[in-house]
Amino acid sequence: MKITDLRTASVQGNFEWIMVRIYTDEGIIGLGESYWGPGVQDILNRMKHLLIGEDPHNIDWLYQKMVRGLSGAGSTGGATVAAISGVDLALWDLKGKILNTPIYNLMGGRYRSKIRIYADCGHGSAPTVEAWKERARQAVSKGFTAIKFDIDNTDPQRFGDPYHVIAGGWNQGQQRPISNAEFDSIFELVNAVREEIGPEIDLALDCHWNYNTRDCITLARGLEPFRIMWLEDPTPPDNVDALKRVTDNSPIPICSGENHYTRHGLRPLIVNQAVDIIQPDVPKVGGLTEAKKIADMADTYYIPMAAHNVSSPIGTIATCHALATMRNFMIMEFHGQDVEWWDDLAIGEKPWIKDGYITVPESPGLGLELDEDVVRAHLRPGTGFFE
Ligand code: MG
Repeated sequence: MKITDLRTASVQGNFEWIMVRIYTDEGIIGLGESYWGPGVQDILNRMKHLLIGEDPHNIDWLYQKMVRGLSGAGSTGGATVAAISGVDLALWDLKGKILNTPIYNLMGGRYRSKIRIYADCGHGSAPTVEAWKERARQAVSKGFTAIKFDIDNTDPQRFGDPYHVIAGGWNQGQQRPISNAEFDSIFELVNAVREEIGPEIDLALDCHWNYNTRDCITLARGLEPFRIMWLEDPTPPDNVDALKRVTDNSPIPICSGENHYTRHGLRPLIVNQAVDIIQPDVPKVGGLTEAKKIADMADTYYIPMAAHNVSSPIGTIATCHALATMRNFMIMEFHGQDVEWWDDLAIGEKPWIKDGYITVPESPGLGLELDEDVVRAHLRPGTGFFE
């Protein structure tokens, strides 16, 4: 069997979902998804020569061929690795279809048949006690047993422009200290949510790399009474030593990794024990192949794996197959609560998320297919359908 083509389609959800199809001379098609980003679709469309004519069974070798073939373009991180990730997902779907078995069987087999999901509540709610309580209530009423809020958008003064705060402008690049008023505001919001959801629901908090090292330690200590599942991305991703200082001095678990790429990018976080929980994004970090290797490396330090995820059902279910095979799996993110057609994008055992869990499909490959009508209805403006 030989690969004959690679084609893409870009779907506009709450993020851009870049779909990847790999075609073969026997008519079997593999489906994957790449994490969004400017240039990712272009890289995919310009890397066909690395795949066409190759045997799709040799996934690990093809991963290395793509990394080597794109090394000049920067295959240690960023858009190139996201593009490679989407191909990796499609190759696993293809292989499962060829061998007539679900992907998890090909990756060592399952530890679990259901993947626990937490609801991201960070978007769509203003930083007020009532809005956060309402958002938390909604998620718990849908059956989620774990939720996450963004605490870095709670102070209208933080970025000097209150209009950016509600509009998701939390990544404006400034990094001023946390004022006492901001600490008070964060603790008031978190306390309100904890009282609303009770002691049993797990609660994570995301900082989006916006604070300095000392403030992160003060913040973590102040959050200790609220039984936090984790504090996410306190310091920026560039300096592992600073992150380790936070982790070593935090009474609550520190989680990071969504802005790191490949096993080599995650390795310093793991071997230095700079995090308590590792959090790569599978369709971004290098795909299922790389995520499994990262999880196994983390497991040698007894570090749990919590997958970052903002994907469509394609990337989400693909991630679930890998997570099912990981000894140290902890929980996975769901970020599509406000996309009413999220479930509709794929044909299969819907609803994909039920009572806070995803049951991993048992049919061959990913165990789902795109609903092409829904894809066509939501193509990113100006882009085509697997052209
Ligand atoms: Mg995050």
